[in-house]
Amino acid sequence: MNFNKLKFGDTVGIIGGGQLGKMMAQSAQKMGFKVICLDPNPDSPCRPLANTFIVANYDDEHALQELGEKSDVITYEFENISATQLEHLTQQYNIPQGYQAIQLLQDRLTEKQTLEQAGSKIVPFLSVQHEDDLNQAIHQLGYPFIIKTRFGGYDGKGQILVKDETFIEEAKELITHQECVAERYLDIDKEVSLTVTIGNHNQITYFPLQENEHRNQILFKTIVPARSDKEREAREEVNKIIEKVHFVGTFTVEFFIDKANHLFVNEIAPRPHNSGHYSIEACDYSQFDTHILAVTGQALPHSIEILKPAVMMNLLGRDLDLLEEEFGNHPEWHVHIYGKPERKPDRKMGHMTILTNDVNATEDEMLKQFEGRE
Ligand code: ADP
Ligand code: MG
Repeated sequence: MNFNKLKFGDTVGIIGGGQLGKMMAQSAQKMGFKVICLDPNPDSPCRPLANTFIVANYDDEHALQELGEKSDVITYEFENISATQLEHLTQQYNIPQGYQAIQLLQDRLTEKQTLEQAGSKIVPFLSVQHEDDLNQAIHQLGYPFIIKTRFGGYDGKGQILVKDETFIEEAKELITHQECVAERYLDIDKEVSLTVTIGNHNQITYFPLQENEHRNQILFKTIVPARSDKEREAREEVNKIIEKVHFVGTFTVEFFIDKANHLFVNEIAPRPHNSGHYSIEACDYSQFDTHILAVTGQALPHSIEILKPAVMMNLLGRDLDLLEEEFGNHPEWHVHIYGKPERKPDRKMGHMTILTNDVNATEDEMLKQFEGRE
């Protein structure tokens, strides 16, 4: 595929002004592009950076048209925008990412079906809409299993771990309100992810394999390079997936590794991803740089170099209270604070990356720093 090449001073339009939108804007502006951002929250992190900011809901037709009129390319920071509206916009404006990836991946059911068609190894699942389906899940998957809403879930929201029959009432309650999938609970040894960027003429650039630890289903830390022998296999999985899904720009595939060292694809984020944030300091290009290079039609770097191994820690509201005192004593912490208006215990308020020649020692030190968190 060949798409428009933007020039210095041209405008990148971003749907969504959260931290991902902000970091995209930072990359775009350093390369000489202007940024226009659309977000319903007038205090969103991208507001102070954006050259133009439209306060409107993501499905506001009029506002999306205005974004299109004022942009030379449109991209997005998250997947929960209307695929139909995006399709409509692609007919009028330059949106190299298209709408297909969003359409397939914003629904966990079609996402899993697409992965099956791609030949990826995934955890056994089934669609759950009625009580009967729940019985089927108990029968086919056995306890424990996880119920996940098909739409709109992130950071473990909209998920119930059904450990035994005492959780069934809660599960029934969830499925009466929202369509769901049920998925076998895997005894996980490790989680890893692979961030990839696809550019003009299908040029493809892989970031190094990332090792992720989640706490309360929210990403807690990422270590790069991953202490795992699965990088080649993970790339092969990505290569299968891109045969089925049209990606442009940066996306990330999340994987589980079970105790028998088998790799399973968990899910795909068709946008820059939290587990790729370390690349801002630790690599010669960040996941946001390559994303902007891709959507603005520039050539991508052939490969990404790790300048130094890294530990990236997320800073939630509860960690910030604890860590902001310490921040001044640690110049080795590359701290990013997103500038969200309200601090909540589980809200991602920022992250920090530490470059190190000894990830194990740095990991231990950081765990001590984070010990006071709930
Ligand atoms: P989200 O969209 O919220 O990131 P995920 O499906 O990635 O949803 O789930 C969040 C986290 O919950 C995962 O990273 C993993 O730690 C845990 N998890 C999800 N599904 C399973 C599973 N089938 N078995 C074990 N742990 C799981
Ligand atoms: Mg996930």
